[in-house]
Amino acid sequence: MLTSEAVVLRTWPVHEADLIVSIFTREYGRMRGVAKAALKSRKRFGGALEPMTLARAWFAERPRQELVRLDQLEIVRSPLSAPVDQTRLAVLSFFAEVIDEALPERDPQETVFRLLVSVLEHTNAIQPEPVRPGVAQPWMPLTYFSLWMTRLMGLLPDITRCIVCGDALALHAAEISYSSYSDGLFCGLHRNGNASALSADSWQLAQRMLRAPATTFVGELWTRRRGQDLRRFTLQTLERHLERKLRSAEVLARLGG
Ligand SMILES: [Zn+2]
Repeated sequence: MLTSEAVVLRTWPVHEADLIVSIFTREYGRMRGVAKAALKSRKRFGGALEPMTLARAWFAERPRQELVRLDQLEIVRSPLSAPVDQTRLAVLSFFAEVIDEALPERDPQETVFRLLVSVLEHTNAIQPEPVRPGVAQPWMPLTYFSLWMTRLMGLLPDITRCIVCGDALALHAAEISYSSYSDGLFCGLHRNGNASALSADSWQLAQRMLRAPATTFVGELWTRRRGQDLRRFTLQTLERHLERKLRSAEVLARLGG
């Protein structure tokens, strides 16, 4: 039997009371397992099958089977321990969908795992609006996760320079843009017709986020507008490489994310 810390990504029913569970484990990467009689056995799984639960998982390989046998999950931290809020749920679904779509199965990604655990912690600590300084909002962990996933997937070129001419963007901070057709950022001269603007604030925020842990940004004021253009830039990059639209991102967009 194997054990690892894991985050539950999603579940879907199979047969009578069984569930297939997609989990992201710290040691073995993303994998799918069968939780036998999960819908009946509250003892082995309890509320741990709720997506985005951080748990200790016990599982075993099955001979000639792609899916592992998931034997037990023990909750370390549940997303349900914080008040349920539409925006927070949409953010949690976004984390789950990106990890589920972006990572190959059985490919350990310790850095991505630590990123996910960190943003989950901050997302679960949020309070409902109105926004107050010192109170973490889901926009911070959402922005941090989107930026870092783009970086960890190798999709983020040097954002301090124009990807066409290599000029330092600090000289053009008022006219930085991105395009849905390419990675990276453009200076004012190389902005193309369908480019969208990235504000100087968001550009500076991105550079700070790439150098510091998420905790650093908790005490700052986070309205939903803050970093919105940066989130759109990273989302376009992620979706272009995944070659599909993310359903959870559409929900977030409707909520103003
Ligand atoms: Zn340029």
